[in-house]
Amino acid sequence: NEILRMENITKIYSNGITANKGVYFSICESEIHALVGENGAGKSTLMKILFGLEQPDDGEIYLNNSRISITSPSLAIKNGIGMVHQHFMLVPSLTVAENVVLGLEPRNKGFFDYKKAVAITEELAQKYNLFVDPNSIVEDLPVGMKQKIEILKALYRGAKILILDEPTAVLTPQETVELFNQLMHLKNSGHTIIFISHKLNEVKQISDRVTIMRNGRNVGVFNTSDVSEND
Ligand code: ADP
Ligand code: ADP
Repeated sequence: NEILRMENITKIYSNGITANKGVYFSICESEIHALVGENGAGKSTLMKILFGLEQPDDGEIYLNNSRISITSPSLAIKNGIGMVHQHFMLVPSLTVAENVVLGLEPRNKGFFDYKKAVAITEELAQKYNLFVDPNSIVEDLPVGMKQKIEILKALYRGAKILILDEPTAVLTPQETVELFNQLMHLKNSGHTIIFISHKLNEVKQISDRVTIMRNGRNVGVFNTSDVSEND
């Protein structure tokens, strides 16, 4: 059941590097889809295009078979696409609850309701099994927690498709196990996860399908269940 498709995506940066060369990429509803390739293969570029952070030189994006245009992150968010970065986009001096609602609930205008922000955060945390203390100051938290807050933030903005850029790079083995459990939970609640990684062995444990990129091209898509453990 395809939810989103990128067709013929080409991106040439101003320095002349062609990071994506006619890339086709398709994801289904409720799947964990890994995007794998060595450093420089063009994975981040493709996902930046999907999140509206870069504009392609050619190609189209279809959401539920309708062509969409994603010229900014806010348009990506409106289309139900969220992104969790390797380097987080959180405001360190604010609380978890403030970060979750930031930008959506008006602030400094006399009617920012902190209690409401806490309630929203607790409800989301409960619903998605992403437990964090809404009152903690973000800069005091370990990196695994910051990642959870970014995921909560994206979910609060209505993300159905969640892009995670090398999410395990910053995590301990214990935090990685926890993240994988949370991703399974999100998948089971109908979300689609795009998991960028350069480690095929790691993503095989958790993903349904894998798209492999090399040299700016999509060189293959396969079902994880078809791959043997030592490939
Ligand atoms: P990956 O995520 O697979 O490591 P990237 O999409 O980051 O690959 O990079 C693909 C190619 O594009 C690399 O050669 C990289 O150096 C180049 N590149 C990435 N971002 C930029 C940029 N902002 N400007 C110029 N070149 C870039
Ligand atoms: P605007 O439409 O107001 O110019 P943007 O499109 O840049 O703003 O951003 C809209 C939303 O996307 C904001 O909530 C912002 O926090 C978020 N956002 C912007 N850039 C990024 C990014 N690189 N990663 C994650 N979220 C981002």
